[in-house]
Amino acid sequence: MSAPDREYLLSGVSINALPKISLHDHLDGGLRPQTIVELADEAGVELPETDAARLGSWFARQSNAGSLVEYLKTFDVTVAVMQTADQLTRVAREFVEDLHADGVIYGEIRWAPEQHLTRGLTLDQAVEAVQAGIDQAVAAVEAAGGFIRVGQLITSLRHNPAQTMEIAQLAVRHRDAGVVGFDVAGPEAGFPASTMRAAFDYLAGEYLPVTVHAGEADGLDSIRSALFDGRALRLGHGVRLAEDFVVERQDDDNTYVSLGLLSQWVKDREIALETSPSSNLQTGAIARWGETIAEHPFDLLYQLGFRVTVNVDNRLMSGTSLSRELSLLTDTFGYDLQDLETFQLNAAAAAFLPLEDREELVDRIALGFDAV
Ligand SMILES: [Zn+2]
Repeated sequence: MSAPDREYLLSGVSINALPKISLHDHLDGGLRPQTIVELADEAGVELPETDAARLGSWFARQSNAGSLVEYLKTFDVTVAVMQTADQLTRVAREFVEDLHADGVIYGEIRWAPEQHLTRGLTLDQAVEAVQAGIDQAVAAVEAAGGFIRVGQLITSLRHNPAQTMEIAQLAVRHRDAGVVGFDVAGPEAGFPASTMRAAFDYLAGEYLPVTVHAGEADGLDSIRSALFDGRALRLGHGVRLAEDFVVERQDDDNTYVSLGLLSQWVKDREIALETSPSSNLQTGAIARWGETIAEHPFDLLYQLGFRVTVNVDNRLMSGTSLSRELSLLTDTFGYDLQDLETFQLNAAAAAFLPLEDREELVDRIALGFDAV
């Protein structure tokens, strides 16, 4: 059974069944292999494997190759079958269905509309097509007596800063039609948020929340720029913030560290870190700490009181689900249900929603965790 379909248990409780929040989840990284096969067939797109199971394994292999180039090739495949309104609607609908099946009650889906225009869609049509899929899935969940809420994060690609303002304006245009915030992704090193400063100034003036991939493929300067040029309210991954810690001493049980001004700011302002354990291993984001989840600075960040959240980044590429990522952490660091609830409450607090709506998510989480 593939990871997304498996059930993960903690103290006899199904992690899948617990109410969860998914803040960092890429649309083009979360397709079903079977859907890729069908859409590629219809559109005449050539695939590295034409059998769904073999294709799923291909994604896992490429993503574990230890090469960012091989990893990024996987997105050429998914993006190629997300170029028409029908394709985008189907992918978005199934994406939300899969979130719901994994127990997610609130999800923010990020994607870069500028990558989906090769077959004639406009930016606005692309956003509307994704929203149609989201709306269909949410309505179906509600009709079946369930609950899920979903928002779009419109991503701008940092290696194309000339278009960032246009993408920012696109996000603002759709803010009352499903878009809850803005994101910047793509090659981090060499493209700090400062290169897109004008767009961030515009977004700040429009009060649209922003998250920026930072502290993943680059270090502290990139995080600094995300916070102060980008006015990011959350950090995409942000794990390399731990480079700002100085280890004072270490014994068997504890690591004693002092924080630099930047990490102290992130902690004190409760700026959420959208960590993604499996992805962070695969992309080398935590390479300076090691090559296993046990060496991920996640636990250190959590113990120090940072607002850590747990995410999938790309479910297909990492062969994962939010339940699986939480299970990896509980297996590695011995977390209990209370810890898992804290991660969900952190995510609820950091969601790009009005305060009352975040409070409603908090209530749902508390209710779900109290029930077990
Ligand atoms: Zn990401």
